[in-house]
Formats: sequence, structure tokens, C-alpha cells
Amino acid sequence: MKYDDDNIFAKIIRKQLPCDLIKENNNALAFKDISPRAPIHILVVPKKGYINYHDFISDASIEEINDLNELMKNIILEMKLDHTGYRIITNTGNDGNQDVKHLHFHLLGGKNLGLMVK
Ligand code: 5GP
Repeated sequence: MKYDDDNIFAKIIRKQLPCDLIKENNNALAFKDISPRAPIHILVVPKKGYINYHDFISDASIEEINDLNELMKNIILEMKLDHTGYRIITNTGNDGNQDVKHLHFHLLGGKNLGLMVK
């Protein structure tokens, strides 16, 4: 599958669509999910276009991978999620029920999230 430059997160990254920005660095962006499933529901995305996790980990530079992980770590620490706990999810493809075809990690917390999969 070819990456579609017109997906909704690509437009947010290009600032063609608004978002509730949490934090960003050179290669990654974090913003609030528009329809939160938990008190804290943040999406962490690489700025460059990768469809999913295996594309990212296969093709991204070390700087891109580091920046995304650094951004995730800083948000976890700043929101004190390291004390309370949290969940990181990335949905991929059909079985993962991925809706937006730009890699994103859901960072969820702020309450007990229950079972991982029902
Ligand atoms: P997926 O099912 O692909 O893992 O998750 C896509 C997520 O993107 C969903 O949680 C959905 O609420 C969120 N989302 C969809 N459109 C927008 C949007 O325009 N802005 C923001 N901030 N989140 C969105």
C-alpha cells in the first residue's frame, strides 16, 4: 500500500487542519485525540509519512525513531503517567482495525483501562 499524503494526520502535520497540540520536536508531533477513549488520550506520530509501525521501524532514520520515543517519554514523565500507569497502542492494518493510515501511537491513561482486548 502506498502512503496517502492526503490522510487527516498528514494534513494536521502540515498545519492544514487544526489540532490540540501537546508537544513536538523535529521529527514527531503529539496532539489530543478528537474523540478520547480515556481521560488522557494522546496521539504520537512521526512527522514523515509512514503508514504503520513496521514501515517506520524498517525505513525511518535513527533520529526519527529517537525523536518519537523521546517525545513519548517526555509526555509520560510530564503527565506523571509513570506513577499511575498507561497504555500505548498502535493499530495496524485490517486485523488491527487501523482507521487513519499514518502511523500513530495512542497514549492512554488517567483511569484504569480495563482488559487489553475484549
Ligand atoms: P486508529 O483507529 O487509526 O488507530 O485511530 C485513529 C484515531 O484518530 C481515532 O482515535 C480518532 O478518534 C482519531 N482521529 C480521527 N480524526 C481525527 C482528527 O481530525 N483529529 C484528531 N485529533 N484525532 C482524530
